[in-house]
Amino acid sequence: MSADPAVLHSAMARAVEFGLRHVESGGLPFVGVLVAGDGRVSAPGVNRVRETADPTAHAEIVAIRRALDDPGGPPVPGATLLATGEPCVLCYDVAAEHGVGEVRYAVSAETAAAWGFDYRSCAAARPALEATARALPVDGALRPFARYRALHGTR
Ligand SMILES: [Zn+2]
Repeated sequence: MSADPAVLHSAMARAVEFGLRHVESGGLPFVGVLVAGDGRVSAPGVNRVRETADPTAHAEIVAIRRALDDPGGPPVPGATLLATGEPCVLCYDVAAEHGVGEVRYAVSAETAAAWGFDYRSCAAARPALEATARALPVDGALRPFARYRALHGTR
């Protein structure tokens, strides 16, 4: 169940305002926020790739991390991910892996590209990279998995 449309709309408007202030202080215009069905809103995430040298620290992923770290925050599974700019393929993947229920964006990837932020090529690059992925088996590759199962059972 997604949050009330008025709650989503106002949370998106606040995310855009937050993005504007973030740009004024030297950041990128991307903000991610999670909204639970009950209206709880996460702390906003902004792109932190440069500051942290973490190539996955996109705004949406930072928002998901913050929600996961906050015991009083919105549960990520089933939440709506609001993104001021449409998520890239990595962020869509992380959101899906964590059970995000839906994604809403204020500005499409195509429009963001027209404004100088073209990240659409990663969607095309992923299948090409996946297609060239090959197994590299080594002896004992399953030992950590077996040890984990011995310690914790199957999950
Ligand atoms: Zn991203």
